[in-house]
Amino acid sequence: MKHIIKRIKELIIGIYSYNILSKNNILPPKRLLLVLTYRCNSRCIMCNIWKMKPKKEMSLNQWKKILEDPMFQHIEKINITGGEALLSPNCIPIIELLVRNIPKLSYIDIVSNGFATELIRKKVQSMLTICKKNNIIFSISISLDGIGMKHEELRGIPNAYNLVMASILKLKELQKQYPFSIVVGSVLMKQTVSEIEKLQAWSKQNNIPQCFQVVGFHDTYVDNLNKQKDIIFSKQNNKKILRLFETLGKPKNWKDIISYFWKDMYFMYKYQVPRSTPCPFLYDEFAIDALGNVFYCLSEHGIGNIKDTTSVSPVSDLYFDPKNIQYRNYIKTHCCPTCNSECNVRKAIAYDFKKYIWLLITGTPWYGISFHIKQLKQHIRKALP
Ligand code: SF4
Ligand code: SF4
Repeated sequence: MKHIIKRIKELIIGIYSYNILSKNNILPPKRLLLVLTYRCNSRCIMCNIWKMKPKKEMSLNQWKKILEDPMFQHIEKINITGGEALLSPNCIPIIELLVRNIPKLSYIDIVSNGFATELIRKKVQSMLTICKKNNIIFSISISLDGIGMKHEELRGIPNAYNLVMASILKLKELQKQYPFSIVVGSVLMKQTVSEIEKLQAWSKQNNIPQCFQVVGFHDTYVDNLNKQKDIIFSKQNNKKILRLFETLGKPKNWKDIISYFWKDMYFMYKYQVPRSTPCPFLYDEFAIDALGNVFYCLSEHGIGNIKDTTSVSPVSDLYFDPKNIQYRNYIKTHCCPTCNSECNVRKAIAYDFKKYIWLLITGTPWYGISFHIKQLKQHIRKALP
């Protein structure tokens, strides 16, 4: 009961913040995306992180200092990613620091490529101990882009599929000690279109939820613009991809909020209309990487580096800097309309609830009141004799 009341309260505050407060205010972020390290033990065809020259990543002391920024007092959820986040030698001490210094933290989610089975088992076990002690919900997402040899081919690692299976097995054993969710994440690109049904069947058979992420191309973070021509969907793929978007875009029940995103992708890819899915990175989420760079979102350029300042609130200074806010407005008008990122949109759709209700009623995304009135007028004109 306590849990349900907490979620309802969260929803009401979220709806109020997204629809009213955000109109004239910059919301303090409640979610953080943390690139814990750029080290990576994979060789994925869609990403260049593994090719990056190693750079000096932030020390524990630097993390400790950053966490003194009052900005972290509002954070409730942290998504940890990499590189392969679990390869960071400071992974567990940093998580301890986060838990100790962020009073409202109630959810930690981590992404892993699933290759270093024993390391994953050990580190996840330590994380579970921390989470259990501090009443924090934990979840892990393991990457799986294809079945058998296909995964090996896409990730460039011998025996990749079997390594992932072994890690999932270990994680399932850990689930018996402390309940947490395991999700499998698959990148949608030219090479994985043939794997869609196989991955869905695998998910059903193994009773592990699976989600897709459409490949994006950026000159920041994954730095993969040079890969675009090799992995972007081909014309032959389009039909299959649209079919998938359409299927995922049909709400299975009233709680299937993520269907809004997929229906939106269907319209975006089929009719080249702008994205209408709200994004938390425009409201109350931001990212920091292991080098101290702060980003409004990882698809776009950073807004500064916390190591460049002696301020006691380096993250807040960057986040609320009017010049950076102007850049965020630029992202909103120039980059978001064509962005296919699904990163954490579920909450944003729930808070901007009118869009999802519109989808439930009409089966189409919401493009704003003036657009839909214009459409209605056209229908009426056509219907008149
Ligand atoms: S996609 Fe992830 S696992 Fe693959 S190379 Fe990039 S950071 Fe590493
Ligand atoms: S560019 Fe994409 S990820 Fe970044 S804020 Fe816009 S929609 Fe969100």
